[in-house]
Amino acid sequence: YAKQRGKNRVERYQKHYDELLRRHSVLENELRHAIERRQLRLVFQPVVALPSVRPVGAEALLRWHHPDLGAVRPDEFIPVAEESGLIGMLGSWVLDQACAQLARWLATGHDVWVSVNLSPKELHAADYAGQVAAVLEKYGVPPQRLVLEVTEHAVATDMDELIRRLVELRSTGVRIALDDFGAGYSSLGQLRNLPVDILKIDHALVAEPESRTGTAAPLVDVVVRLGHRLGLEVLAEGIGTSAQREIVEEAGCRLGQGSLFGWGVPAEHLEAQLRTVRTPGSRPAPQPRNRP
Ligand code: C2E
Ligand code: MG
Ligand code: MG
Ligand code: MG
Repeated sequence: YAKQRGKNRVERYQKHYDELLRRHSVLENELRHAIERRQLRLVFQPVVALPSVRPVGAEALLRWHHPDLGAVRPDEFIPVAEESGLIGMLGSWVLDQACAQLARWLATGHDVWVSVNLSPKELHAADYAGQVAAVLEKYGVPPQRLVLEVTEHAVATDMDELIRRLVELRSTGVRIALDDFGAGYSSLGQLRNLPVDILKIDHALVAEPESRTGTAAPLVDVVVRLGHRLGLEVLAEGIGTSAQREIVEEAGCRLGQGSLFGWGVPAEHLEAQLRTVRTPGSRPAPQPRNRP
């Protein structure tokens, strides 16, 4: 009996594993054509100043809608893209589209910055900084308007190399955000050595269950204080309730993002929200230069 049960379990595991492999290879093949088949688009999630809730920026988030597979989540297809070497192509497209949108917002007087997520693989590609500089130049976007988000996972790899890459990137004038901080990969000590500008507190730290609010507050408090002491801007991710917003605000955090302020939406949906914050007499944004 036990033997039979064990065998069944192995078979079930094998079947599950086969399905995962099949899904992986389907996604890989389909992802290869996703750009040319126009299945990808960017949505933008507002970043707001706290406590005013004035939108100051937006994070570009990639969406893939496949005619047969439906909506595939980035948490599923980004790892596939990374493993199959497609991430370079995908990342270039994201960077280009995000800068194009940023240029449009700046041209219409919106005082915003845009952030783009970066895979560790992209960061380590030859002359990534050069690619970024070229896209900024193409759209005439002031570099400080672009934020590149590096995940904590990247920190787990070679630190010296990572620092070299970030220094190089930053020399183009863009700002760097450390994404998902507190999710459990980097150590506090490493943070001191990283050339970053913005610390994004992972939503897991912020989004403690309401009933355990008492444990979220001190953690958020410490991380916000740490970030500020290191001279960084601190942004809390995944704010979904006013109780969470309160915790974050009381900790002194001045930037927030999360469903309470809005999910990622197509750029044109965000425009109304951005427009409401335009103050008369604010400095007009630079016009994008037209290049052949
Ligand atoms: P991330 O950069 O940490 O992005 C935040 C994720 O949290 C987004 O999920 C966003 O929709 C979600 N989120 C926002 N507000 C809330 C909230 O209040 N509550 C909760 N529970 N979640 C919230 P999304 O869009 O599915 O992206 C997941 C991850 O995929 C991103 O995490 C990022 O690491 C990666 N990703 C997305 N777009 C790109 C891209 O263009 N390039 C790369 N390399 N990675 C990307
Ligand atoms: Mg991010
Ligand atoms: Mg994050
Ligand atoms: Mg994440």
